[in-house]
Parts: sequence; structure tokens; C-alpha cells
Amino acid sequence: MDKNVDNLKNKLNQLSIEYSESQIEKLLKYYEMLIEKNKVMNLTAITEFDEVVEKHFIDSLSIVRVIDMEKVHSIIDIGTGAGFPGIPVKIMFPHIKVTLVDSLNKRVNFLNEVIENLELSDIEAYHGRAEDYGRDKKFREKYDVCVSRAVANLASLSEYCMPFVKPDGYFISYKSGDCEEEIDNSKNAIKILSGKIEKVEKFSLPDSEISRSFIKIKKIKNLSNKYPRKSGIPSRNPL
Ligand code: SAM
Repeated sequence: MDKNVDNLKNKLNQLSIEYSESQIEKLLKYYEMLIEKNKVMNLTAITEFDEVVEKHFIDSLSIVRVIDMEKVHSIIDIGTGAGFPGIPVKIMFPHIKVTLVDSLNKRVNFLNEVIENLELSDIEAYHGRAEDYGRDKKFREKYDVCVSRAVANLASLSEYCMPFVKPDGYFISYKSGDCEEEIDNSKNAIKILSGKIEKVEKFSLPDSEISRSFIKIKKIKNLSNKYPRKSGIPSRNPL
């Protein structure tokens, strides 16, 4: 079936994201790789082109609603899975250094194939748990922005993500539209982790009208060495 590339371009226009034909080709190639690998490995439940555009590509890129990407130099994507939001962000904003982390090695191998095939540069994919990388000097407090989508509840996720963010940088969490209770239950954790919720931005995906939210958390000072706690503890016993 033909891919509705005009639909993709329209949606990028709606977000005021500029593109070249080469960037569009990279998104299409990424889609092909995703669908091909999905036949032998669980990467995505969504496979139809327009749906992947809306629920993976456009959802990932909707981050432009809450931050000026031209001012961002480095992003780490925790629990990136098949590369969301990190790969679409790298394709459309190539000036940003992108680090992808996932605890499933098969997915990291797939990401490395994508990086090679799409000839992406200044992007690396790492296998392992966020809690371990968050203690590693090479990664700790080194990023302007940490992003994460569909990985854990906000309290646990904040302990995974806040360690990577530089003071004055941001952790931006992709969540569904109704996340008020989750936010309430994570306020204490966010405070302990040197964070402050700056904004909760609700929006709808253009066609499906699925309701989504960004929780934008500012890192207000360096993080205590107590965090993150050992691997597994943030999810078993959230702050
Ligand atoms: N972010 C992607 C997306 O939105 O499509 C993938 C979401 S998938 C439901 C969750 C991913 O998080 C899985 O690939 C899993 O391996 C990874 N993950 C879960 N806990 C993790 C941790 N502590 N450190 C690193 N990766 C983790």
C-alpha cells in the first residue's frame, strides 16, 4: 500500500517543524525497518503507516510544544524501545547529540542497525538499566534534556531520569492525557530528586484525537549521591 507522505508532511507543518526531502526519506526508511524487524521481534503494536506517523513519529516530535529544540544540544532517551522518541527527534533535529538507553539488548541491536542504515551521526545506543547509567560519571548530569515515553510511573521514572539532567536542564515525560493522579503521587519524589514541575501541557494527536500530556520538570540543583538507588528499587519502592 502507498504511504501517505503528504499526511506526514502536513503534520510536520502543523508542528512548524521544517524538513528536507532527505529527512522525510529517513523517516520512511525507519518505518520500513521497524515493520520488517517487527515480523521477528516485538517492537510495536502499531504497524499501519498513518498510525505509525501519528502515534509514534508525531507524538515523539510533539516535544516542540514544550521546548525550543534549537536551544537543546543534548538529549538522553530512557527506555527508548524501538527508538521513540529518540530516533524521530534525531532525524528532525540533527544538531542534537542523542543518547538512547534500553534494558533489552535485542532492541539496542535494532537501534544500531537503524543508526547505521540511516547514516545518523552523533547518536549512540546503550544496553542497560537507567539506574546503572545514572550513577556513571560519563552520563550523570551531562544532558540538557532527558525524555522518556511509556516506561514507568512518574515517581519511579523521575528517579530513572533526573540523574542525567544538568542543573537548569529538563526531564520531559511523555504521558497520557489523564495523568493528574500520577502527578500528585510523584510530587514528593520529584522534590527529593531536585526537580520542580514547570509545566503540564495537554494536547491531542491530530487525527485520532488521543489525549496526551507532557510533564516538564526543571532540575533546580545537583542531585544527592543517594540517587538513583540500586537497580530495581525505584520501581519496587518509589520515593
Ligand atoms: N519509549 C518507547 C516507546 O514509547 O515506544 C518504548 C516503550 S516500552 C513500553 C518500555 C521500554 O523501556 C522497554 O523497551 C524496556 O526494555 C525499557 N525499560 C524499562 N525499564 C528500564 C530501565 N530501568 N532502564 C532502561 N530501560 C528500561
